[in-house]
Amino acid sequence: MEDNAGETLACCAVSNFKTKPKSNGHDCCTLQPKGKNECPKCSQKAKGVLGKTLKYLLRDDAKIELSSYDGFSYCKTPSCKVIYFKKDVILTQKDIKVEVGLKDGANPANMCYCFGWTKEKIIKDIEVNGKSLALQDIKRKMNTIGCLCEIKNPSGNCCMGDISKVVKEGEIK
Ligand SMILES: [Zn+2]
Repeated sequence: MEDNAGETLACCAVSNFKTKPKSNGHDCCTLQPKGKNECPKCSQKAKGVLGKTLKYLLRDDAKIELSSYDGFSYCKTPSCKVIYFKKDVILTQKDIKVEVGLKDGANPANMCYCFGWTKEKIIKDIEVNGKSLALQDIKRKMNTIGCLCEIKNPSGNCCMGDISKVVKEGEIK
């Protein structure tokens, strides 16, 4: 597959780079399509995703079926099998190269798709050390390696919000 990852610096890392981008950072987050659509299965509102996210994450046999990668929305309801949808086109886990961690039964429950943090790894971290260094690890790597959430994360967004939720839940227990 061709790699178009170089087009933009991704996500939150941008605000920490030495050369500031034109806007005030968080570029990948603001690039997301506006508006929400109702998932045809669970009826929850779902945010749009960029075509390049689908282009990066879809399996080849799923790609053949599509006329375009644009205009899809991402359903984040854990119990809903739909991952991406557009009108009557529905894409599920079998169409996607990575395990979508926020869906029920995902194994591994991927959370940070850039640096490999899973729910299991965070929980283990907390069990062993009393806390998880996931957030610190991700922040550090965003600044050194740089992250590609907008294509690697099925949501197209930064994972930090989801990660901190899991860390908080785990540390309270
Ligand atoms: Zn749904």
